[in-house]
Amino acid sequence: MVRYLEQVEMDTVLSLSKRRGFMFQSSDIYGGLNATWDYGPLGVELKRNVKETWWGSVVRERDDMVGLDAAILMHPRVWEVSGHVQNFADPLVECKVCHQRFRADDLEDASGCPACGGELTDPRTFNLMFKTFMGAVEDSASQVYMRPETAQGIFVNLANVLVASRRKLPFGIAQIGKAFRNEITPGNSTFRTREFEQMEIEYFVKPGTDEAHLDSWVEERFSWYVKHGIRKENLRLRRHGDDELAHYARDCYDIEYRFPWGWAELEGVANRTDYDLRSHGEASGHDLRYFDEEAKEHYYPYVIEPSGGVDRAALAFLLDAYEEEPDPSSAKGETRVVLRFHRKMAPIKASVLPLSRNEKLAPTARAIHELVRPHLATQYDDAQSIGRRYRRQDEIGTPFCVTVDFQTLEDRAVTVRDRDTMSQLRVPVADLVSILKDKLEHGW
Ligand code: ATP
Repeated sequence: MVRYLEQVEMDTVLSLSKRRGFMFQSSDIYGGLNATWDYGPLGVELKRNVKETWWGSVVRERDDMVGLDAAILMHPRVWEVSGHVQNFADPLVECKVCHQRFRADDLEDASGCPACGGELTDPRTFNLMFKTFMGAVEDSASQVYMRPETAQGIFVNLANVLVASRRKLPFGIAQIGKAFRNEITPGNSTFRTREFEQMEIEYFVKPGTDEAHLDSWVEERFSWYVKHGIRKENLRLRRHGDDELAHYARDCYDIEYRFPWGWAELEGVANRTDYDLRSHGEASGHDLRYFDEEAKEHYYPYVIEPSGGVDRAALAFLLDAYEEEPDPSSAKGETRVVLRFHRKMAPIKASVLPLSRNEKLAPTARAIHELVRPHLATQYDDAQSIGRRYRRQDEIGTPFCVTVDFQTLEDRAVTVRDRDTMSQLRVPVADLVSILKDKLEHGW
């Protein structure tokens, strides 16, 4: 059965997300700052899991990739040479009546304001880069940009990384970091914000092999989302038409997710050709060509760029995990809300629950929690009935609950309950950590 969230469910997930501490509106006590979000105690764990899983897949588990962490502020020439000062702009229109602003290329009907029907201004070009000043004097000589993509930090470091890591083509550099865009129409929670985090790869290849590498990265990145819990029917690939390609791209595929408001981009995989390296090589006077020892020639590598958003990925993992179902353990026919996160994405991996607050149980339950917590993200919960605590853990997507009961005091064993099947297993406390680790790796 094809399943995807409706808009009403989006509101339900967002309210759960606030109530349980995934995401909060930024500066909430001052009425919030438009389209900026803070991640709460569970959200920060989810986001870290997205980044760590990505880093594992694209850096640690590959021979042909290394990592980098470049600064947000870069020499202003970078953005002139990359074409962002000139081209990184959206056409902006404003309603003459209600003064709302829209991206002209987003409007289905550009003849009037979608909010009030009023007359729209002619489109004007609006550069999306945030500007700031470095040093004490605010003049144009001290103006710098907040990076709108992490990619340029990789291009300008290519020569340093090549020397330091003694790599040969094809090879890639991965980076996770903040990016800033003064979006005209932010919205849909963390989907489009003005401050966000990207996870980007620049993969350098010999010209002529670029198309094959593009295909293989598209396949690799698409299956990464499926492998980590997004339903395949909620993902699709969309190739860019010639008219939508960015100024640096020859070809591009978007990996799209079926968000409650429709299909939208999670990640783009683009063939950036040698545009950036050639431009920076020529403008900086540094030879950024690669010397191919086999072919005995110098050339500018072509670049394949899988570029995803951490916040968009976290939002998609959260939305796709959400399910409501009749609670089989409830005699009153109640509903169970469960976030069916992939085990790697779940913010809390196991919770330790003493059957009751009985004082004989507490020391043993605490000791078991101490045993587990150095190895996994855990919670200890002893408030209210065990049934309620199971439901609270299901609602935040905890894969395993460990129940400590009176029998434990005698047989040194605990009950482990699986979130999805709700089946239970009695395991010796001595083996608990290794059993949990094994189940987190391989499933129930
Ligand atoms: P869109 O068409 O949605 O504006 P884009 O094509 O401009 O996105 P890219 O420049 O390809 O986006 O950026 C790479 C990734 O960075 C996107 O796939 C997305 O996941 C993330 N991203 C881009 N802009 C934003 C934003 N304003 N808020 C959150 N994430 C973003």
